[in-house]
Amino acid sequence: MSGPYGVRLLSLVVPCYNESESISKFFASVIPVLESIDAMRFEIVLVNDGSSDDTLDKLIAYSRRDARVRVVDLTRNFGKEAALTAGLDEALGDAVIPMDADLQDPPSLIPELVMRWREGAEVVLAQRASRVCDSWLKRVTAGAYYRIHNKMSDQKLPVNVGDFRLMDRVVINALKQMPERRRFMKGLFAWVGYKTAIVRYERESRSAGHSKFSGWRLWNLALEGITSFSTIPLRSWTYIGILIALGAFCYGTFIVARTLILGIDVPGYASLLSVLLFLGGIQLIGLGVVGEYVGRIYDEAKGRPIYLVRRRYQDTGQDKLIASGRRVIRIDRGHVSSGR
Ligand code: UDP
Ligand code: MG
Repeated sequence: MSGPYGVRLLSLVVPCYNESESISKFFASVIPVLESIDAMRFEIVLVNDGSSDDTLDKLIAYSRRDARVRVVDLTRNFGKEAALTAGLDEALGDAVIPMDADLQDPPSLIPELVMRWREGAEVVLAQRASRVCDSWLKRVTAGAYYRIHNKMSDQKLPVNVGDFRLMDRVVINALKQMPERRRFMKGLFAWVGYKTAIVRYERESRSAGHSKFSGWRLWNLALEGITSFSTIPLRSWTYIGILIALGAFCYGTFIVARTLILGIDVPGYASLLSVLLFLGGIQLIGLGVVGEYVGRIYDEAKGRPIYLVRRRYQDTGQDKLIASGRRVIRIDRGHVSSGR
């Protein structure tokens, strides 16, 4: 899919949610790096994920100055996974790199990713060498998460690899075929497979602003990941049930034998009640797990689009000739994008 003279297109996909403070730094450090890669054109697809600050205005201003910058404005905050999906759908590149707007993914790594791709890798993962810039709690919980996820699901997540990676067009096309509404991108990336190379790097702290992922959001993302890629939580209830039934049977036999030998003694209601409450609790947990999956089926069955695009912005340069005041025009490829 290379263009004229073997020049290929690299797309950078950047979800932005209230990133007003990071944007100018982002462009200042990314554009020189992209320009330094030879025999490669580039485009930057910025997805405004319903920011409530002036992120969109800043992005549009950049798209006016630089025709290589495109902005996709979503109708509200759909979350990072959906914003990323939107960006991957919009990207036209032969190779695509999703990247955070806060420069935590170092742009200086891009030439190396491209080099490995040119050497034949279809996916080039950027793996964090360490998590020194994360808090102790985040390190421990992230480590535990990767262990649990990889035990439970068939597609192993590479440890300490975020969304920052290079993917060939064939991989992007494969991802576009995935119909699910609830999107755990890391898992989907792992699911598609393909020839993979790994590049290691040191992750920086956020350049400006603050993280949008609180503990609660991360916990939900973790649940999302496990329930999207494993049915072990469902199946485990069969085994828990068998174990409890077996225990109850043994205890029952013991009580019958004891009554036959020693006669009836006065039964204690405390033990009865505690066993009852314990089993009630266990049943509710089991029901909750089943409910989690039923909820997911419900979400998928509704078949709503993953995101909605309000408008796209790109400076095509055409209306400079028309001498109109507004240089940014709207390229409307259908108002509603279902992400397919
Ligand atoms: N982001 C987004 N929508 C959201 C939350 C985050 O598009 O609802 C973007 C955010 O602008 C950034 C990237 O996702 O470019 C990563 O977010 P953040 O840096 O807050 O996450 P962290 O690095 O702490 O995991
Ligand atoms: Mg970040």
